[in-house]
Amino acid sequence: MNSPRPTSDSASDAAARVLSDGWSRRIENLRISVTDRCNFRCVYCIPEDIEWLPRKKLLTFEEITRIARVAIECGIKKLRLTGGEPLLRKDLPKLIGELARLPGLADLALTTNGTELPRLAKPLADAGLERINVSLDSLDRATFEKLAQRDALAQVLAGIDAAEAAGLLPISINCVVIRGVNDGEAVDFARFARERRFEVRFIEFMPLEHGQRWGEHALVPGHELRARIDAEFPLAPSPDQDPHAPSKDWIFADGAPGTVGFIDSVTAPFCQTCNRIRLTADGKLRTCLFSLREHDVLGPMRAGIDDAGLAELLVGAVATKELKHHISDGLFVKPERTMSRIGG
Ligand code: SAM
Ligand code: SF4
Repeated sequence: MNSPRPTSDSASDAAARVLSDGWSRRIENLRISVTDRCNFRCVYCIPEDIEWLPRKKLLTFEEITRIARVAIECGIKKLRLTGGEPLLRKDLPKLIGELARLPGLADLALTTNGTELPRLAKPLADAGLERINVSLDSLDRATFEKLAQRDALAQVLAGIDAAEAAGLLPISINCVVIRGVNDGEAVDFARFARERRFEVRFIEFMPLEHGQRWGEHALVPGHELRARIDAEFPLAPSPDQDPHAPSKDWIFADGAPGTVGFIDSVTAPFCQTCNRIRLTADGKLRTCLFSLREHDVLGPMRAGIDDAGLAELLVGAVATKELKHHISDGLFVKPERTMSRIGG
């Protein structure tokens, strides 16, 4: 953000309402999906024949800003906009501007597939966006197309350039790895991080896809990728590791710029330190990516709930946050929503 944010009296008034779950985890991170629509069809994320939500079911900018304001008053410090593809939501810089002005917000970020960044990077930065994550699963055109089901590598690389030029730094790259498809590119991505001063994060494939692609055969444990990179470019643990961040970050031991990180959600879950909740584009609060129940926020808002009631709703929902996911213990039930409809 370019200028310091104002502080708020109402934020301190609401300090009594802290978002803390039944396992003493303090929730400080809210991810907001602004649309379920997407111009890609990533094989691990979205059904090919998906039907979009009708517009009237989407949270309006006013509703999103109000929920964010009340959530910040209850202790949320970081907001990240996601989707679907968030840059497809019309007038997104306007929403960014409104969120950036909220008192008490420490960090405002966005996750995107990058295709619209050549057009929007500068307006987003001017509106107050601080950082972005760009998803990029392959540096090879054919492999990229195989995963995104769109021939758009050049467009995404141009988007990354535009984000850099707009000062949305440091740029993080998200790479979901699927065995036999793009796992051979780990060292190429590490080289990309070094050359461009990027934070490249490898994300383990999670069972939130449409259909049945996920399985042991498709999953590449993060430690395997780390060993491959370390053999080419020796790594050292990052001295700046955030204990709540899902990504475990590593720097290059030879002092080269850039980092590589590993989000090992399946093989090394970080549920114990999870401090995040999610709001879907249709206004449902989810306390875990893998939640089987949701808390409706849109309905009560449109029925006239006041700010105190909204805060109570958030506090009550967070109290039910799940201890952990069950991917590896035989109790796992796949949520009905695919990742694109949750907001990753
Ligand atoms: N469209 C934007 C994008 O692709 O960056 C934002 C939404 S997308 C759902 C957010 C992140 O979730 C992306 O980095 C994507 O790669 C990741 N993702 C989607 N499905 C996933 C899955 N099944 N396992 C792991 N990560 C996934
Ligand atoms: Fe769209 Fe992002 Fe899902 Fe790919 S990962 S289909 S870009 S929402």
